[in-house]
Amino acid sequence: MDRDIRNLRGMVLRHEKGSMEDGNGMRTVIYMKGCPLHCWWCSTPESHRFEPEVAYSAARCVGCGRCVAECPAGALSLNEEHKIVRDRSKCTSCFHCVEVCPFSAHKIYGEEKTVQEIVDLIAQDEVLYFFTGGGVTFGGGECLGQADFVAEVMRICRNRGINTCMETTVAYPWEEVEKVLPYVDVMYIDMKVMDRELHNKYVGGSIDRIQENIKRIDQSEYPVKIRIRVPTLSSVNGNQKNMKALADFCRGMKKLEYIELLPYHRLGKIKYDEIGIEYKLPDEKTPSEEAMAELANFILAQGTGIPVLVSGVRYP
Ligand code: SF4
Ligand code: SF4
Repeated sequence: MDRDIRNLRGMVLRHEKGSMEDGNGMRTVIYMKGCPLHCWWCSTPESHRFEPEVAYSAARCVGCGRCVAECPAGALSLNEEHKIVRDRSKCTSCFHCVEVCPFSAHKIYGEEKTVQEIVDLIAQDEVLYFFTGGGVTFGGGECLGQADFVAEVMRICRNRGINTCMETTVAYPWEEVEKVLPYVDVMYIDMKVMDRELHNKYVGGSIDRIQENIKRIDQSEYPVKIRIRVPTLSSVNGNQKNMKALADFCRGMKKLEYIELLPYHRLGKIKYDEIGIEYKLPDEKTPSEEAMAELANFILAQGTGIPVLVSGVRYP
């Protein structure tokens, strides 16, 4: 029985070791593939699809045309700059182009891993977790889309004394959330946009489900810590109306440690080019430090007593 569970497979995007930003201490971050939302500012668009997908780096490509000739679906062509254009409607994800390119200009995002393989990977840094209070953090994509897999890895980690965190939007039915709750120490939960119409446009999914799940986690019997994260964009949610609604929603939550405002950045833009999808916020700027500080102080002024974090600075 146990052996079967350890052979359970998950679709993993990638992992990152030695992270100091995704929970306490030093951490191994496991990014899972697949997300039901479509945030316009997402910095990991290569995580959106649940299945593996092919990406292309123009910087590596010398324009030899070999992949164009070998693509069985006729999905590739060279443009005037001798760079590859992929017709996503024709691509069957056979990954033949990855094999034939001599310069590794095509690559695959996503690989199946077993529970045991991921546990072994995490356990390589067990000593570092012990000395720093770190552990494993699951991110994505939306890792709750593979809740059975994530719950099982976290269960084994917990049994070994490894701290467990997840970064989530809780945009899944409660039955999926419930699977991980017994095994997770800290949940970083995104509350991106409070206005229903804006949420539909920029985020997608059900705002009611997300908010209901957060309240249910807060009222649950499990001693999980909640940290709310808000990717903050001047043109979408970086305003007093959104932050007041956020503060009102969070007021009285028992498990909430703090609200963290994350200034928008466009580091993920290159990934949109790699997988050939449109970046919908070409003109959005990173909010200034002063603007972020103003928003933090505005949330504090709502009198909830909940601390606010911005770029490592804690208010008050
Ligand atoms: S993955 Fe296959 S079908 Fe898609 S572009 Fe590459 S070779 Fe062609
Ligand atoms: S085979 Fe590689 S280097 Fe040649 S055109 Fe295709 S992606 Fe570019």
